Order: sequence, then C-alpha cells, then structure tokens
Amino acid sequence: MYDLVIIGAGPAGIAIAVEAIKSCIGRDKILIIEKSSDHSASIRRFYPETKLVTANYKGKESVCLGALCIADSSKQETLDYLDQVIMENGLTIHFSEEIYGIEKLPDGIFIVKSSHGHYHTKTCTIAIGILGRPNRPSYKIPPTLRDKVTFDITTVPVKNKKVLVVGGGDSASEYCLNLVETGNKVSLSYRRDSFGRMNDLNLKNIQDLAAEGKVNIILNSNIEKIVDMEGPFVVYFESFLPGQKYDHIVLALGGSTPKNFLKLLGIDFNGNEPVIKRGYETSVPGLFLVGDLVSGKGGGSIITAFNSAHQAMKHIFDEYLNTNLAP
Ligand SMILES: Cc1cc2nc3c(=O)[nH]c(=O)nc-3n(C[C@H](O)[C@H](O)[C@H](O)COP(=O)(O)OP(=O)(O)OC[C@H]3O[C@@H](n4cnc5c(N)ncnc54)[C@H](O)[C@@H]3O)c2cc1C
Repeated sequence: MYDLVIIGAGPAGIAIAVEAIKSCIGRDKILIIEKSSDHSASIRRFYPETKLVTANYKGKESVCLGALCIADSSKQETLDYLDQVIMENGLTIHFSEEIYGIEKLPDGIFIVKSSHGHYHTKTCTIAIGILGRPNRPSYKIPPTLRDKVTFDITTVPVKNKKVLVVGGGDSASEYCLNLVETGNKVSLSYRRDSFGRMNDLNLKNIQDLAAEGKVNIILNSNIEKIVDMEGPFVVYFESFLPGQKYDHIVLALGGSTPKNFLKLLGIDFNGNEPVIKRGYETSVPGLFLVGDLVSGKGGGSIITAFNSAHQAMKHIFDEYLNTNLAP
C-alpha cells in the first residue's frame, strides 16, 4: 500500500515526491510511474540543446514556494539539478511504464493499473503535463514526410537545411535561434500580424535575427497544404503564391490538456479545463493534478510546476496522510 502514487516524472511529479518526503512520508510509501525511459521527457524532447532555461518563463513569477527551485540555467544544468534531486531524495521511479486506469474502491483506496502491475495507494497525483500529444495542424501531413515535419528539433537532427518554423510563441523563437546557429536557412510562419505571446527576450531575439536577415518572418500566414515532391517539399500558404520549397518543417504549436485521458479517470471538466478544488484536488477526492495540467490558458513553467506540487502536497498531507489526525 502506497501513500502517494504519482503519474509522470517531470518537474511537477518529481517536486511532489520531494514535498511528500519533506512532509515525513516514507520514501517506500511514494512511487512515481513514468512512461518514458528517463525523467523530464518533455524537457529532453522539446528544449533545444543550447536553450537558456529562464526562471520567469512566459513572464511567470519566479518565486519558489516549496523545496525545489531553479535559477536561469542551461538545459543540461536543469536536467542535472533534477537528477541530483532524484538521487539525494532516493525517489523510486518506474520508467517505461504506462498506466491505463485508476479505480477508486468504496473504502477510498485507489488501484492504479499499469502495464507492469496494479498498485494500491491512499492518494494519487497526475503530473503528465500537456506535451504528450503536441497540438496538430488542421492540414494533412503527408505520411512520407514524417521525418521532415516534426514537433521538436531533437528527435531528428536538422542542419544546413531550408527550414520553416510554424508558431508564434516562445518555443518558435527559441527553435529559430537554435536552427540558425546550426547552419539552417530559417523562415517563421505565424498566422497573426504580430507576436503577442513571446517573452521580451525571445521577441528581441527573433526581431534581431530578422533584422540581420537570418530569419524570414512571414506574418498573417496560414498553411493550406504541404505537398511531397520527393526531395524538398512544397508548402502552399492560403494567401501566398506560388508554393515555397523547404527541406524541413518544425511545428511549434504547443500542447493541450489530455482531456479524454483525465475524463476516463472520472475527473469532471468545465469546458476544456478540469474542475479543480483547493490544493489542486480534482472532482475525485484524493486524486490531484499538478504542473502544466493546472496552469491554465497562459501555460506553465518549471517553477509554477514546483509550486503547484508544494501546494497540492500541503493539502494531501492535511486531508489524507497526516496520521496524527487518524482516529
Ligand atoms: C520548448 C519549450 C521551452 C520551455 N522553456 C521553459 C523555460 O525556459 N523555463 C521554464 O520554467 N519553463 C519552460 N517551459 C515550460 C516547462 O517545460 C513546463 O511548464 C514544465 O516542464 C511542466 O512540468 P510538468 O511536470 O507539469 O510536465 P512535463 O515537463 O511535460 O512532464 C510530464 C512528464 O510526464 C510523463 N508522462 C506523460 N504522460 C504520461 C503517462 N500517461 N504515464 C506516465 N508518464 C507520463 C512525460 O513523459 C514527462 O516526463 C518550456 C516548454 C517548452 C515546450
């Protein structure tokens, strides 16, 4: 019997395990289940290698409330910090394991069902983020272009190519900077007439790159279709003719709440957002959400993930695990 089973070993999942230990929950009473072969899979996949990881990402306040905190650092330093946190706290993480259901028994105990077995726990926290399935465009991606149309720049190396980045947020700007640094000829397509969602640093970077002629910004552009020409492929924009040839496209379109998955667990939704009560508890008592899942429309950051874990654990401890209150 576990006190706390956590699904997802990203910043939020790691943080809530540490917060539980700080609340004197025994290490052997806490289990993290991670579907990838390593922790922080979203950071590994979506962050460019040379990215500056900013503490105040998306203008979020960089005040840390709980046990974990980061300052501005590199991608590797961020991962090293999380490695160290896992090691120092002796966290148990089952890697390459996916859950397919969580059942709540009449006595309040959860059974977490995974590909590797069933785990009984008093409370459960979902910390799977929103990037498991990146947002997809409305146009069709020809199956032959799978390796040439990607949602990140780490799974397929992109060097010395003609690349189109699609998106208008911080990731789009960071991808452009990295792709320029690795010798690519970069264009950036965004459907609006200005970049309203980037932080000041990323906005300045993209404007500087455009001024230096290193990135060709195509505003008010909507892709209509992509046609495979067996070599460079052709992208047709709704209002631009003729089609433009590229070797690679990076779709920086963000992610969204895995609504179906959470609904399957019995969590109520209000529109597209899960119903969240005090301490990030869902409509299922004892089942909590933390990290990007509760960051709302503006998106989250590593520090907001850490802080949500701190607040959720406070509530979990007070309401469910404080044995001093047990009759
Ligand atoms: C390109 C990019 C740049 C960013 N830059 C910054 C920055 O500079 N500074 C900053 O503070 N923030 C940045 N962010 C945001 C930050 O990465 C997120 O807010 C943070 O990682 C959220 O943490 P999380 O633990 O909620 O989710 P995630 O980091 O997404 O972690 C979720 C974990 O759960 C696992 N998982 C998913 N589904 C399952 C499942 N079904 N079963 C088991 N495990 C599962 C995943 O493999 C992953 O390891 C950036 C995000 C992106 C995409």
